[in-house]
Amino acid sequence: MTSLREVLKRAEADQVAVGHFNFSDLVAFNAIVAAARDKRLPVMVGLSEGEREFTGVRQAAALVKAVRDEYDYPIFLNADHTHSIANAEVAAKAGFDEIIFDGSALPFEENIAQTRKAIEAIKSINPAILVEGEIGWIGGSSSVLDKVPDGVGVLTTPDEAKQFVDATLVDILAPAVGNMHGMLASMVHGGVQKRLNIARIAEIKAAVRIFMTLHGGSGTNDDDFRRAIKSGMTIVHVNTELRLAWRRGVEAGLAAEPNEVAPYKILGRALEAVKEVVSSRLELFSSR
Ligand SMILES: [Zn+2]
Repeated sequence: MTSLREVLKRAEADQVAVGHFNFSDLVAFNAIVAAARDKRLPVMVGLSEGEREFTGVRQAAALVKAVRDEYDYPIFLNADHTHSIANAEVAAKAGFDEIIFDGSALPFEENIAQTRKAIEAIKSINPAILVEGEIGWIGGSSSVLDKVPDGVGVLTTPDEAKQFVDATLVDILAPAVGNMHGMLASMVHGGVQKRLNIARIAEIKAAVRIFMTLHGGSGTNDDDFRRAIKSGMTIVHVNTELRLAWRRGVEAGLAAEPNEVAPYKILGRALEAVKEVVSSRLELFSSR
């Protein structure tokens, strides 16, 4: 099977992006895999520390391995937003393909120091694991928000991006470029969309010349997605949109089957709802 690095190189050359979708249960996981296989596209699945705590770290790795073994499928596993080196080491030992060490809440110099330590720890376990570093604050929660969190909206500069990448030697950079974790209620209803600073994305890409990830993709304007990918975003994360679809699907399943107790008979609608979101996002991210 091809490595994540090779898949990202190909995507970068083709000016498309690899979709990254979070899961914390088998409904979302199977929905992501089904959507990717239908589209015949490589896909990344990720789990935050909270999501990993719920599924189990090795259990999540075993799910991904099962899909690879059964279909020889290019599916890759990411330890999303890992805040401690200890948790990064656990994920590295479990066989994750990528680990995001998220020191973005730390002062800049401290973020550099901690990210360097994390890279050393991870690569000593498996040098093939790609490590992503984060700079800039884009909020911390993939949920429906009342308002934009304090401090969100300050853009990463090309200078600080270059300084961070040169000092840490991260494989992948996650900058703040107008993106935000979670969605405002107005975005859920569709009236408001996230807009990205495309010029800044291009400037940062030119300065760092490594892979870049767009976090907090949920609720973003479609044209901004396309232009962000053309300007240098090679991975795009979507989580909140899947969580919303999951919840609506579960509610619809429960409402349709008020006397049913078999989970798999109730949860089919949730699987279909999540699969639909993933399909449409993969379509967009892979279109040239
Ligand atoms: Zn994120």
